[in-house]
Amino acid sequence: MSEPCIFCRIVRGEVPAQMLANNKEIAAFRDLNPQAPVHILIVPKKHVASLDDMADSYLLGQMVTLAAAIARQEKIAKTGYRTVINTGKDGGQNVDHLHLHLLGGRPMTWPPG
Ligand code: AMP
Repeated sequence: MSEPCIFCRIVRGEVPAQMLANNKEIAAFRDLNPQAPVHILIVPKKHVASLDDMADSYLLGQMVTLAAAIARQEKIAKTGYRTVINTGKDGGQNVDHLHLHLLGGRPMTWPPG
């Protein structure tokens, strides 16, 4: 049976995505339904369902560091950007594979919805 997790399938190259980074442990690709001019997802390549299941602080640090590097590459670092990890039902998580949203290219509002 094929792996049902959409982000695992993207990481394996079975589902197309606009990939921006793909190293040994982390991948970054453009969100299919962007909520800002720049909307990128940074994911661990191993399947981790959510932040609540993440025990690898080194890998989490790598994800955040990659987000900052991509923000510079996308030329949104100077104007600013938002990084978000939605976790669980109340957090608004829809895909059960840990992902860090990188959003920028427009002013963000607070509080989030
Ligand atoms: P969340 O609601 O925090 O779980 O975020 C899931 C994100 O994954 C949403 O922003 C979706 O637009 C995005 N998404 C779902 N399927 C794909 C896909 N095949 N390629 C790229 N992004 C996707």
